[in-house]
Amino acid sequence: MRFSKLYAPTTKDAPKDATLPSHKFLIRGGFVKQSGSGLYSFLPLGKIVLDKIRDIVKENMDASGAQEIQMGVVTNADLWKQSGRYDVFGKELCRLKDRKNNEFVLGPTHEEVVVDIVRNIITSYKQLPLHLYQITTKFRDEARPRFGLLRGREFIMKDGYSFHDSLESLKAEFDLMEKTYRDILTQLGLEFRVVDADSGAIGGSGSKEFMVLADNGEDDIVICDSCKYAANIEAAKRTKRTSQVEPPEADFAKFYTPTPVKDSIRHIAEFFKVDEFYTIKSVIKKAIYKDEEKIISFFVRGCDTLQETKAQNACGALELVDASEEEVRNAGFNPGFCGPVGLPEGVEFYIDEELKEETNLICGANEDNYHFVGVSMFNFKDSRYKDLVQVDAGDVCPKCKGKLSITKGIEVGHIFQLGQKYASAMEAKFLDKNGKSQPFFMGCYGIGVSRLVAVMIEASHDEKGCIWNKQTTPYLLDIIVSNVKDEEQLKFAEDLYEKLDAKKVLLDDRKERFGFKIKDFELLGFPYALVVGKGLKDGKVELIERKSLEKRMILKEEILSTLQEILS
Ligand code: ATP
Ligand code: MG
Repeated sequence: MRFSKLYAPTTKDAPKDATLPSHKFLIRGGFVKQSGSGLYSFLPLGKIVLDKIRDIVKENMDASGAQEIQMGVVTNADLWKQSGRYDVFGKELCRLKDRKNNEFVLGPTHEEVVVDIVRNIITSYKQLPLHLYQITTKFRDEARPRFGLLRGREFIMKDGYSFHDSLESLKAEFDLMEKTYRDILTQLGLEFRVVDADSGAIGGSGSKEFMVLADNGEDDIVICDSCKYAANIEAAKRTKRTSQVEPPEADFAKFYTPTPVKDSIRHIAEFFKVDEFYTIKSVIKKAIYKDEEKIISFFVRGCDTLQETKAQNACGALELVDASEEEVRNAGFNPGFCGPVGLPEGVEFYIDEELKEETNLICGANEDNYHFVGVSMFNFKDSRYKDLVQVDAGDVCPKCKGKLSITKGIEVGHIFQLGQKYASAMEAKFLDKNGKSQPFFMGCYGIGVSRLVAVMIEASHDEKGCIWNKQTTPYLLDIIVSNVKDEEQLKFAEDLYEKLDAKKVLLDDRKERFGFKIKDFELLGFPYALVVGKGLKDGKVELIERKSLEKRMILKEEILSTLQEILS
């Protein structure tokens, strides 16, 4: 390609809201153009990268036996009503009507459509398993679209859906997809971790996320320093926490505690001269359901933090929000003095499972200025106990007793074992070996293809711009003609360009200053530049490696073989 013909509008300045390198460089390099909040167009360079990633994803998916299809972005809302997700999906689901008042949604994910594709057509176990996938546009009306392609509202995902006659068959495909995703990310040259994940709105049992380690990641991931255990903080487990400090042994009693209400756990621990480990803290939230709202107290140790996703899963709410003091009081709780013992009848509460059967605890007495001491946790139903706490750095690994630490990651893929949830809601059934009709077992598997374009840059850049690897770079080589008015330089570069593959090489034949061209090279970040400049008179040209910015002089006669090696 000739740079003089290429539509790559590079700029010096990034938009004000661009804080991450990938966002800045994608815009400054003219890879993409923003057209609205969370909406981007891919320009020629961005489209080449997108297609390269797409090709790697497709090759590996095809090799796994999955078949590519393409579903529509606009989806009949009836299908979403059949699965029950129309009302519960929340505001991310963009709902719309046509001129006849028929309802539609813009597909944020395609379980419903794909179930409808196979329903009543796949009718026997003999036709299973089947895996269909697509690489297309998704729309999610994200609350906070940001970071450019990392969190758009419209984005491109590879989403695959598999159908099975048994849980074993589903598990085998799930494992195959884990391997396939590992292969894809390895081929892309990314450093990643596969982590246990929360299944979110999509639902189902087991799910794993593929996290690229990056300082700018939005996700916190917990990893063990001595075994392979890794989990999203929303799903991370730990070995039950213990304390080295002696427990405050006491008989059960009510105690006068004139503490300020604010920041009370610290005050309570100081007041009783005990470790916060032996106190119970109440975190009260308003839980939003489809048709109602509830005020719920979650009890965790004073030294622990409530993990909101776990809390949300515990009570099955669509969303948890802060509750006002008035709402808390009206629901029967005493804010500041709330404890699990002696709560009024009928209030909603959950207790962290690590508190089960613990003794010598201190908690609010549900009465102004009183706490209980010597509390034992024996009298609660099992269903009250849930995993509610956030794992901290330094906690003990649940698998091997190593130490856990927390690092940042960007989620690039997520695979789920859905089980029979969608197929049973949508009455998609097959006849099993015994002639019995059953809903399909399903898995679903997503990779953020457009997000990966940005992730490649987050994983590899410097302060000057992108540093693409061979697998995903738009061009492998930038031949820079230092001065296009110098006929000898231009002719030499043109001849060279003619001999090479125009799909791999960009010839910078623009009538611009050398400094401008080299800045573009650094910003665009192709692996190599060849500078055809003054040295040509002495039979030499200069090869620059983008990653190290190292320069090396090459003799005119050796140039073709050197370049062919780079381009192979
Ligand atoms: P996140 O937690 O980042 O919001 P998610 O868990 O909602 O993502 P999934 O439903 O698991 O996303 O979708 C599969 C993949 O699609 C994700 O792993 C991610 O790579 C990509 N993806 C999801 N949302 C976006 C988005 N708003 N912009 C770009 N890519 C996205
Ligand atoms: Mg996810």
